[in-house]
Amino acid sequence: MDHVARRTFPHYFAPGKKLFQIVVKMSDEPGSLGRILNLLGTRVNLVGTDTYTMKDNTAILNAFAEALSPNETTEKLQKLVLSSNAALDAEVTEGREGILVDAFHTGLEADGESLMLIRRKALARMLDRVHALLGTGGDFLLYEEGFAIGKANGEGFVKMLGREKIHDIIGYLRNNLSAQGWGRVAVGEQTDGEASHLMIYDCFECSENPGSRTGCHFFRGYIVGNRLATTGQELAAEEVRCVLKGDKVCEFLLTPKK
Ligand SMILES: [Zn+2]
Repeated sequence: MDHVARRTFPHYFAPGKKLFQIVVKMSDEPGSLGRILNLLGTRVNLVGTDTYTMKDNTAILNAFAEALSPNETTEKLQKLVLSSNAALDAEVTEGREGILVDAFHTGLEADGESLMLIRRKALARMLDRVHALLGTGGDFLLYEEGFAIGKANGEGFVKMLGREKIHDIIGYLRNNLSAQGWGRVAVGEQTDGEASHLMIYDCFECSENPGSRTGCHFFRGYIVGNRLATTGQELAAEEVRCVLKGDKVCEFLLTPKK
């Protein structure tokens, strides 16, 4: 299967459509979700759903939906959902002016950690401003920021799995960065000595460059900080190819510090 970017719904724009967000608190039993989806399927076109379990043996279904009938209302949909004994509670809101905004969630969470979404291009522009204002000092700052985040992320996994297990499944764990939209990591051929190459495809730092940046200093720092946390190894990282310089991929030469 072709891998794709996950569709997420902080908002959804469909002018001319009657849009609803339907949030259902369900009993966390087999079949609950299917029963509710079957009910909803008769009245709305589901454009995106997600489901997750809570700690109290309940589960949440969040659905972004287009109504099949122009006479659909929040009250009618709420009544429909609550007619199922799989539903414990329901909250339905209607979009306005062709836009449906998530009016239920208070943020994102992964494994107990709070997350936030930010547009990749906006973040790349932020990095651009740092370079524009501070020049090579800005590049150094971005390296340090990347180092700090890479180290903190690595320490999170060390706490969860320990260094030995991380070492065994490092290639698999790299999917975590890609799943979050940072870029797709691939390991290059081992070069002479202990040096190695790491490639980042579709790196977020290169997603926008209205200024004069010529390298991924944040990601370079990220790799060094992450490797230090997960292996204890201190590396020097040099970016030898970069999308910002016209290459197809960003490639880093990693050399252990003696
Ligand atoms: Zn780059």
